Amino acid sequence: MIQSSRQLLSTHGDKIKVFLEETYLRFHKTAYLYSDPLQFLHQYQDPRDQEWVGCVAAQLAYGNVKQINSSLKLLLSLVSEITDSPHQIVKILNTMPLARRGQVFAKFKHRLHGGADVYAFMQLMEYSVSTFGTIGDEFCSYLQSGEAESVENALTLMIKNWKEKSKKHLAETQYLFHLLASPQDGSVCKRWCMFLRWMVRKDQLDLGLWAKGSDYLLKPEQGILPSQLIMPVDTHIGQIAHLLNWSNRKTLNWKSALEITQILKNSDQSDPIRYDFSLSRLGILKECQKKYVLEICERCNLKPVCQMI
Ligand code: SF4
Repeated sequence: MIQSSRQLLSTHGDKIKVFLEETYLRFHKTAYLYSDPLQFLHQYQDPRDQEWVGCVAAQLAYGNVKQINSSLKLLLSLVSEITDSPHQIVKILNTMPLARRGQVFAKFKHRLHGGADVYAFMQLMEYSVSTFGTIGDEFCSYLQSGEAESVENALTLMIKNWKEKSKKHLAETQYLFHLLASPQDGSVCKRWCMFLRWMVRKDQLDLGLWAKGSDYLLKPEQGILPSQLIMPVDTHIGQIAHLLNWSNRKTLNWKSALEITQILKNSDQSDPIRYDFSLSRLGILKECQKKYVLEICERCNLKPVCQMI
């Protein structure tokens, strides 16, 4: 019989915490960066480049990891033909004739998105930096403006602003809006939540540029705490949540992300999203096959509470 998530937590809470911690200890390591688009941020020293690369890399992080990594490699190599400082790309392109600008990303393609979509997205990032100082400062300004009390509302307001600014690009782009998912539309917003994790948490993997007190922000006091983050939920995390009966929703949406975050808070109230990278490895590295496989399941710490076997 399938148990409710509340029953499951009361009967198996300790086992789930052990599973989360053991998975974290096993996979939350730089040795696994190769399997994640976060690797590209670590290739840059300048935090402005890390923020810029992170923003675009997170939005293109859909599809399989091999595809994502090869698309990002291509995009960054096209950028490097113009500049070694990716955050300068739009400023530099603005000094070039229009026809030349259109050529720079003409070869780029990642599933739905072509060069025009990505270039338009870069112009939104440039708008944010030139208006607020950093993308982080724009995001955090919505947390502090009184209009927003949470990361959810700040994300909603920033995307609303970017959608407004993107109207002038609509004629030349096809799928720009797919890069501007918002909690307001009920979207799970996995890619934005993942970008926020990269920017807010700080350890050997995540960069902490937007953390409260970070020198990177023009207004460090407006930074974000890890406890405010929402879990980036993709199909891998969704499947684990399903195995554990953490969320019964048929379709992953913003409410699923909030529910899963709340459950992770039972294991770490101040930093619930620290489990994201390690849990994602279970799916990305094909550890869990979502069915009983003797040699995998018998050494899986989740076996006592897994609803799948
Ligand atoms: S017990 Fe098997 S099916 Fe369940 S989570 Fe572990 S590896 Fe996946």
